[in-house]
Amino acid sequence: MAETSQTSLPIARGLRGRCPRCGEGKLFQGFLNLRAKCDRCGLDYSFADAGDGPAVFVILIGGGIVVFAALLTEVLYQPPYWLHAALWLPLILIVTLVPLRLIKGLLIALQYHHKAAEGRLQKRGGG
Ligand SMILES: [Zn+2]
Repeated sequence: MAETSQTSLPIARGLRGRCPRCGEGKLFQGFLNLRAKCDRCGLDYSFADAGDGPAVFVILIGGGIVVFAALLTEVLYQPPYWLHAALWLPLILIVTLVPLRLIKGLLIALQYHHKAAEGRLQKRGGG
């Protein structure tokens, strides 16, 4: 159980867009831009690099939802194409823009929690 609570704390902080260390300072400046550092505890956010991770999750999950809904609607009701456009274009915006910030915050919080970083070469000890 201790493992669960130690991991759920950074998850909650990430989803709320808060600093992964103190949980108070804001992570974002604007919609998706990161601040340079935490305005509460001073944690340097330069370690944070979610890369394309948030976009991948959004594409896979949001794309699956929209394609499944569109196929199901077509098979069951065969609506005209203008109705497909009216339904799925707004849904695409909702299922991509809303979770993007949540997932970016979550991935950065998990990166901080697990101390994940690029691999680096180390010199071997001894001689
Ligand atoms: Zn902080």
